[in-house]
Amino acid sequence: MRKLIIANWKMNPQNYAEAEQLLAAVLGGVKRIRGVTVVFCPPFVWLTDFSHKMRPVSFGAQDVFWELAGAYTGEVSLSMLQTSRVSHVIVGHSERRRWLGETDEMVRRKVAAVLAAGLTAILCVGEESREQDNVSAVLEQQLVAALGGLAKASLARLVVAYEPVWAIGTGEADSSSNALSAAITIRKVIRDRFDQKVAQSVPVLYGGSVSSENIVSFLSEEGIDGALVGGASLRASEFIELVRRAAAVSRSQGRLKLPVSTPRPPGRTAGWKKGTGVQPVA
Ligand code: PEP
Repeated sequence: MRKLIIANWKMNPQNYAEAEQLLAAVLGGVKRIRGVTVVFCPPFVWLTDFSHKMRPVSFGAQDVFWELAGAYTGEVSLSMLQTSRVSHVIVGHSERRRWLGETDEMVRRKVAAVLAAGLTAILCVGEESREQDNVSAVLEQQLVAALGGLAKASLARLVVAYEPVWAIGTGEADSSSNALSAAITIRKVIRDRFDQKVAQSVPVLYGGSVSSENIVSFLSEEGIDGALVGGASLRASEFIELVRRAAAVSRSQGRLKLPVSTPRPPGRTAGWKKGTGVQPVA
């Protein structure tokens, strides 16, 4: 699976000139890098301008409202995003859950609306504290709430980002083995609600203090299909290096797919498929 890197700029930078400069610098550095998809999620105010000027580049929104039109002051609709050439929408980011009071029900409505509109929903889930010992239960609760009522076919455009809240913006990334365990749990929950095929096809990303230093460790886990990157996406040279390293992992895993029969490595559970980007659902 081609690795997916989402650049979440959050509420940065503070003016158009800096935003344009950052995007131009990053695009200059990543345009010849093959094997990875990069999606830029700048603040709403610059999306239309950037997406019309800079092509072919993929853009995402950091949020959306679930209603299609009407008297919803301050909100942005899916058709507005579509006319702005947006392909991806981040939904349920922990900063929105924490600061804007976004509930599981709001997240569910947003995911359903994004998928119904034919855009890709990047659903964020993750536990609050590093000390928490019920991570699987938290992930299950958030996923079941967010995916309630969805038809199996609509999950074709779902991406799940595992984002432990304690790791976001702290410089304290999770370990790649914990992130992989979370990815396996996420696929297990999706398998139990839908089926194995859907579970294996949903890309699972890791997010939380990802940098050029640690990106390789996360992406080398074949159940982790990419990363949601906040702080590091605001520094052009750092982000270019991160994408370069992500692409190198992507290409090396692509090469590993060439053998027809792939022996199961020691310690892996049944169902492991080398080079598919998919781990077994335990
Ligand atoms: C994020 O924006 O979701 C994020 C993971 O931020 P950071 O990379 O800064 O931790």
